[in-house]
Amino acid sequence: MDQPEELDSAIFEYLRADSLLVDGHFAFRSGRHSTALLDRDRLLADPTAASRMGYALAKQFFTAHIETVAAPSIWGAGLAQWVAYFLEPRANVVYATPRNGVPTIAGNLHDLISGRRVLLIDNLVISGETIARFAKLLEEHDGEVIGLGTLWSSSDPVLAGHQLFGLLNAGIAAYTTDVCPRCMGTDSTDPTVVPY
Ligand SMILES: [Zn+2]
Repeated sequence: MDQPEELDSAIFEYLRADSLLVDGHFAFRSGRHSTALLDRDRLLADPTAASRMGYALAKQFFTAHIETVAAPSIWGAGLAQWVAYFLEPRANVVYATPRNGVPTIAGNLHDLISGRRVLLIDNLVISGETIARFAKLLEEHDGEVIGLGTLWSSSDPVLAGHQLFGLLNAGIAAYTTDVCPRCMGTDSTDPTVVPY
């Protein structure tokens, strides 16, 4: 596992200090467990922290020549703005519009997808279904999906054939139950079931 970079350790300190990250034993819908839980509602509420995390995500893709950053959810949309802002040259941003509960791409945005190098960004990836479905939708619009990025993921690291980068995963692992330290330890406890 990669050591979190200096910027990331500062983020972890901030998250803990503001109780945006609490320690414990948690079970996610994906079936994976973790030893810490992020407050997904407040995670992006502070623009200073959001911009730092957006910069750190963008940095992973500095050499990938991203033209468009696309977000499948309203929660990912705010983060996508920061990521696009820090890419050089700055990328365009596309959000999905929910129609009958299904994410769609507005017709006047198709030019920003078709033939473009696209980075998908969501705030959190839990089961991976949403971002995987969105990657397929972008490919149906002839977008070239270059990568997937998120603040934290409890899903498989490869989704719809694309590598997923989870910024905080280096410090908060998403364990399969057979290697979860809280399940395996002598003081093992039942996990708190997270509703997502
Ligand atoms: Zn566990």
